[in-house]
Amino acid sequence: MSKVRSSNLGYPRIGENREWKKALEQFWAGKLEKKEFLEQIEKIRLQHLEKQKNQGIDLIPVGDFSLYDHVLDTAVMFGIVPKRFEYDGGKVSLDTYFDIARGTKGAVASEMTKWFNTNYHYIVPELDGAVPTLVENRPLQFYKEAKQQLGIDGKPVILGPVTFVKLSKGYKENETKAVVDQFVPLYADILRELQEEGVEWVQIDEPILSTTISKEDLSLLGEVYQTLHKAAPNVKVILQMYFDSVEYYEDVVSLPVQGIGLDFVHDRGQNLAALKKHGFPEDKVLAAGVIDGRNIWRARLDDKDAILAEITEIVSKNQLIIQPSSSLLHVPVTVKSEETLNDVLKDALSFADEKLHEIVILTKGLQNGKESIGKEITASIEAVQTLNESSFRNNIQVQEAIQNLHTYQAEREAVFNVRQGIQEKAFQLPLLPTTTIGSFPQTQEVRKQRLKWRKGELTDAAYGEYIKAEIKKWIEIQEDLGLDVFVHGEFERTDMVEFFGEKLEGFQFTKFGWVQSYGSRCVKPPLIYGDVSFKEAMTVEETVYAQSLTDKPVKGMLTGPITILNWSFVRDDIARNEVTNQIALALRKEVEELEKNGIKMIQVDEPAIREGLPLKRENRDSYLNAAVYAFKLATTSVQNDTQIHTHMCYSDFKEIIDAIKALDADVISIETSRSHGELIYAFEENTYDKGIGLGVYDIHSPRVPKIEELTRNIDRALQVLDPKLFWINPDCGLKTRGINETVAALEVMIEAAKQTREKIGAKYTLNV
Ligand code: GLN
Ligand code: ZN
Repeated sequence: MSKVRSSNLGYPRIGENREWKKALEQFWAGKLEKKEFLEQIEKIRLQHLEKQKNQGIDLIPVGDFSLYDHVLDTAVMFGIVPKRFEYDGGKVSLDTYFDIARGTKGAVASEMTKWFNTNYHYIVPELDGAVPTLVENRPLQFYKEAKQQLGIDGKPVILGPVTFVKLSKGYKENETKAVVDQFVPLYADILRELQEEGVEWVQIDEPILSTTISKEDLSLLGEVYQTLHKAAPNVKVILQMYFDSVEYYEDVVSLPVQGIGLDFVHDRGQNLAALKKHGFPEDKVLAAGVIDGRNIWRARLDDKDAILAEITEIVSKNQLIIQPSSSLLHVPVTVKSEETLNDVLKDALSFADEKLHEIVILTKGLQNGKESIGKEITASIEAVQTLNESSFRNNIQVQEAIQNLHTYQAEREAVFNVRQGIQEKAFQLPLLPTTTIGSFPQTQEVRKQRLKWRKGELTDAAYGEYIKAEIKKWIEIQEDLGLDVFVHGEFERTDMVEFFGEKLEGFQFTKFGWVQSYGSRCVKPPLIYGDVSFKEAMTVEETVYAQSLTDKPVKGMLTGPITILNWSFVRDDIARNEVTNQIALALRKEVEELEKNGIKMIQVDEPAIREGLPLKRENRDSYLNAAVYAFKLATTSVQNDTQIHTHMCYSDFKEIIDAIKALDADVISIETSRSHGELIYAFEENTYDKGIGLGVYDIHSPRVPKIEELTRNIDRALQVLDPKLFWINPDCGLKTRGINETVAALEVMIEAAKQTREKIGAKYTLNV
């Protein structure tokens, strides 16, 4: 009889109670011996495999587990170690592995960057002409471990050569093929050894195929998989894609592999359409990612069953594997621990363990007929419907507002040039005004007080007083420093999204809903589960208090709609844009509250705009248009003399420069100090004609910059930007810095501004 198989692509590393994180951090702190550490880690790794086995997953991934990051694992498996770290060949030691990831006193860590359009960060391999060799066969090692310890015939997971090389740096684009060709024989060795060991299935991830790639890349892929197939014809390779639809469907499904893994959740319907249009080869298996690996909502099993029914019209059941759309790395471990959540919500959630259960159920349904899972289908429909019909998702006022969006003005009253004149008179700022990005050091003491307050050991009033005292202290510091535009310091906020989520309607917070962000660092994204609306003023009290202490303008400080959206788990029963607009409308009210209370500069941070960019080029404009609209919906109802600021934290923004201009913010500050040169270059090609502050020093290091560095950065920027529109600021918030280094660095920054003003002042007198 034909057998439908269930599979998983990757399991969260962190553990139900973040045991993994704790072990790592104890080891790094020297509180855990290496031997003990490795034992603890092995236990965690085996537990995760066992859990998947007990759930009834047929193809259990091995080798997806990592001590830091799977891209780094792949690099060290090939002996790729940047020259600045200790290494003399052979298997890379644990210490060197962590040094690459975390840096040492003498050597900076390798750069990390976002894994496709997720919030997971990987370590960027530095190839730099290194000759790769296979120094250990990781997949084989983990395969053997699972087999010996648990009797599991695992499915080794390997990051494919094309994606691996494309995510690496240290070679020129036209060398891609040559570099990939260096790795292919090593991948062939891995597969050959797996074949000898009797491994049946191997998953090779090539998510690069879900992005916009060239024909050359496609033909490179063809050659690579041809070679790998010849090397180990008996292992069944599943070529795995995720996060979007596959480019060149017809070519990809005819590559010489035995299985094709496709995402049927984040493909905007295109994988299914391609499958229907072009069919599917009879000699391959289709690994169908039907359960969302990136979001936390329970699936309606009837919907999923319907998709599977469409698929099985084309692909026979014994050709089919049921699995999540991507690795479950991107979701928390289990809903079970969430004891305090509202039942309606909890019942409609599904984290990694629950998702595996959904997969097993769907597999059973396909195998034994729909009736065999009738109870589960009904329960899933009920859970989802109950949440959909609940008052959380049926706020009439919010829904009416969304229907009447066209009645909300989303343009400033006057164009920038007019506003600029009005604001110049109103604020009377000097040339090259100085400011900061929002947060000041969140010291241990600040965090301690907040914790006490959260535990109920400190009254609201006492905590409020403490925050006010901090604000007052920093207003005085800013006054002494001589900054031109002040901030209140954000002492009342742990996290720029959580803070607003807790105050807006429509958000919930889990207790254990952690996901890995990078290394041992985990984040707990809020759940946007209902209609979002404004309850009461969120930032007015602190901002107005700060403003009452000084004659200098104090910037109100909000997090923008796209950032709130991108850093949360978002309900999927309505369009994402609709959720964004709900948030924008709520923020618009906050902006109006601030303005009404005399706050005349308001900064709306959007550090996450760029990372939300769709993987396919053709979908980017519509994303950016929606982002710009939401930002303007939130910020444009103010008077001409209210100055809107925004902030973004990246330097690589060529692709989004038009969107940045379209935000129509009066002033933008951008993080650039780590790549000043490139940014300036971007501005040589693109003029920017509104207020702009390019971060003049890097806040990510405690180092106090030298004045010459700053004046040089400023001079360079002024070659391409209008000095009358230029602001001077650090490149991001100062929350992670210490007090002394912050004050010292700001002193230097202000002195640099002064010197530059003296140098160029005569040429640019302001008409105030
Ligand atoms: N206003 C925020 C701060 O200063 C901005 C943080 C960010 O860009 N990520 O902390
Ligand atoms: Zn920033």
